Amino acid sequence: MTVDQRKALLDEQFGICPICLKPAPEHVDHDHETGRVRGVLCFSCNAALGQFRDRPDVMRRAAAYVEGNVWKPKLVAPGVYRLPS
Ligand SMILES: [Zn+2]
Repeated sequence: MTVDQRKALLDEQFGICPICLKPAPEHVDHDHETGRVRGVLCFSCNAALGQFRDRPDVMRRAAAYVEGNVWKPKLVAPGVYRLPS
């Protein structure tokens, strides 16, 4: 990605990290499977996606957890639990 392409992408994001909304993000984020550029993120958000292994299902559970919604597997049969999706 060229400097001009990066600037154009950042302009499309209004100059902010699309996740935490802080100004002047620096890290060009790629989909590690396809190589597609997804956006420009701040250091913390880029690292967080890596920590969550780019898994949206894990990130959604993390958000619910942080909001205080306790993780509870659902008993669907004796001894059989379904995990929240
Ligand atoms: Zn961020």
